[in-house]
Amino acid sequence: MAELRFSALREVFSRGPVEVTTPSKIVSEYYGENVFDLPKMERFLSKEAYKVVKRAIDEGKSLTRQEADQVAMGLKAWATGKGATHYTHWFHPLTDGTAEKHDGFIEIVENGQVVEKFSGEVLVQSEPDASSFPSGGLRNTFEARGYTAWDVSSPVFIVGTTLCIPTIFVSWTGEALDYKAPLLKALSELDRAATDVCQYFDKDVTKVIATLGCEQEYFLIDDALYYARPDIVLAERTLMGHQSSKDQQLSDHYFGSISERVMAFIEDFECEAYKLGIPVKTRHNEVAPNQFESAPIFEEVNLAVDHNLLLMDVMRRVARKHKFRVLFHEKPFAGINGSGKHNNWSMATNTGVNLLSPGKNPKTNLQFLTFLVNVIKAVNDSNDVLRASVMNESNSYRLGGHEAPPAIISVFLGTYLINMLENIARKVTDKKMTPAQKTELKLGIGKIPEILLDNTDRNRTSPFAFTGNKFEFRAVGSSANCSPAMIVLNAAVAYQLTQFKKDVDVIIKKGVNKDEAIFQVLKKYILESERVLFEGDNYSKEWHAEAKKRKLCNLASVPESISLYLTKASREVLVGSGVFTDKELESRVEVEYEKFAKKVQIESRVLGDLAMNHIVPIAITYMTSLIENVKGLKEIYNNTEYERLAGARKEVIVTISDHISMIKKLVSEMVDARRKANVIEDNYKKAIAYESKVKPYLDEIRNHIDKLELVVDNEMWPLPKYRELLFTR
Ligand code: ADP
Ligand code: MG
Repeated sequence: MAELRFSALREVFSRGPVEVTTPSKIVSEYYGENVFDLPKMERFLSKEAYKVVKRAIDEGKSLTRQEADQVAMGLKAWATGKGATHYTHWFHPLTDGTAEKHDGFIEIVENGQVVEKFSGEVLVQSEPDASSFPSGGLRNTFEARGYTAWDVSSPVFIVGTTLCIPTIFVSWTGEALDYKAPLLKALSELDRAATDVCQYFDKDVTKVIATLGCEQEYFLIDDALYYARPDIVLAERTLMGHQSSKDQQLSDHYFGSISERVMAFIEDFECEAYKLGIPVKTRHNEVAPNQFESAPIFEEVNLAVDHNLLLMDVMRRVARKHKFRVLFHEKPFAGINGSGKHNNWSMATNTGVNLLSPGKNPKTNLQFLTFLVNVIKAVNDSNDVLRASVMNESNSYRLGGHEAPPAIISVFLGTYLINMLENIARKVTDKKMTPAQKTELKLGIGKIPEILLDNTDRNRTSPFAFTGNKFEFRAVGSSANCSPAMIVLNAAVAYQLTQFKKDVDVIIKKGVNKDEAIFQVLKKYILESERVLFEGDNYSKEWHAEAKKRKLCNLASVPESISLYLTKASREVLVGSGVFTDKELESRVEVEYEKFAKKVQIESRVLGDLAMNHIVPIAITYMTSLIENVKGLKEIYNNTEYERLAGARKEVIVTISDHISMIKKLVSEMVDARRKANVIEDNYKKAIAYESKVKPYLDEIRNHIDKLELVVDNEMWPLPKYRELLFTR
């Protein structure tokens, strides 16, 4: 009965670490060997072609057909030299992962011979029959095909024998069908707006790039146990399972020494990542048992997003070799920590300045303050849509959980900066500042660098925290593509900086000097954004009450959160800045509603199946054996003895029987609720029905199953238990 569970456990016990054959070279010698990066372009391309690509990368331009042909020639030479036989346009559809369709290099020429061919045409553009990807009504399956176009800012790479070309994915009518196209637009908006503002401080700034370093959390479980848990296979999380007596209470896994078998896996995937030019740097055990983190050195946002997606892919692949499964789900196990993907974000100029790093003198510090306050204002004004950007079905189990950032988006700054902002809000007036006031303000700012070096008062509970020289957006889910969060954040900050420039210029035109005009606008912004600043414990109940008073959004509902993309304010930021058209935004929201409903539907089906076909039959079998036992007692003992002995057993029979009845009843109600939800046409209403009418059953049914797990004979229990999933490796 429990054969699958026990044979899986036996399999795990017999495993040792997989032998890892990392290159004998040091990392710097093989780093990026599978990437067509600038040094390789210089080697494989003509001088002219190299110059063209370099310019296209720097200026965000695309290539002409002829230029592309030249690049394709060199690229083919490099790729085939490395054993590549196929190429693919690699893109980010609105599903959770990446997509690829491979084509061989081969072509048959006149005399029937086969040759390797690769032209500029197929390098820059391709037309995958991608009609099955979600488009939210932008594209009917029978009409338009989408096409993919090369994103030159992200280098081409080889995985196995396939040359992968990072691309955007758009419909023939020009609407974006992916995450990359709007991300590139948001980043270019940020560049324009931030460069404009930098002109107040430094005329040499001609380009600003947004930077991102994502800390990726994940769980590992053994392959054999994975296959013995259909819920993990199909829904990526456990839909049942009683808590293990010991899990993370002792915090003994956090930062503990990494086991040999896990270490072999980590070394192996890191080596693959290095070959792909992904700069992974930090690795450690996380809080929950079998939970880990990998963090790279930060990069330009678009590249960092590609690298994160590629890294997740590499980890999944390498894990198979080590007989592990990587779980990127935000909450694979109830009752213990979930996983996030902290997005460390900042902005850097072409002159090498991190705009969120306090400078060494008052001038650069006023620049720092300007960007800091504008980000805060952006988070305040775009609070709703930032929340919408991180909310989805799987992350909803984590956000608002006891250990994760709450669903309320607030900003943490640390005592020193908070005091400084208060100072500005109090001291700056419309009147000309006295020299003494100016000195005081500038002195205050001048002290920032030393103070921030000591970052001891970090607040781990904040969803958006300033951490010395960057913000950390922690509400992003571990399984997510960072793009939605990055699109919204960068567009919101770009929108805000544009507004700032206008506001300051109006005051300068009145004859006020530049620094003072900046101070006046910053003061206004600080006062307007005070409600979003919170230094306390974001996990506390008091914060929920306080946030309500401050009118900060705290929605538990996923579809309702997603609908915040469509408010007037969100549209002004996202459509007003040209990142989306109204139609694109609306279609994306449709896709999100659909995804939500489908995921709940899948979980509900899996749970129903497991409950009725795996758990209930076992519970009945065990109950029957107890009944037999009670009957036996009756045969061999007299009445008084029998009553004394059978009492406890009868109670267990009743308990089991009650749970079985409840499970049957709830499953049938859940199926009914699903049926009703399925006939709803409107995607939003359907998602709401799934959330309010179907989803609650998941917990209720689970509750009864988990109670059964405690009474049914361990020898019979069909699914690997939490203690086995979390501690066996
Ligand atoms: P932690 O926050 O866990 O203490 P660190 O602050 O050292 O760790 O770094 C976390 C992540 O932040 C890393 O991926 C790092 O590269 C990234 N990071 C550091 N500086 C920046 C920056 N200016 N812009 C974006 N990400 C950054
Ligand atoms: Mg961090």
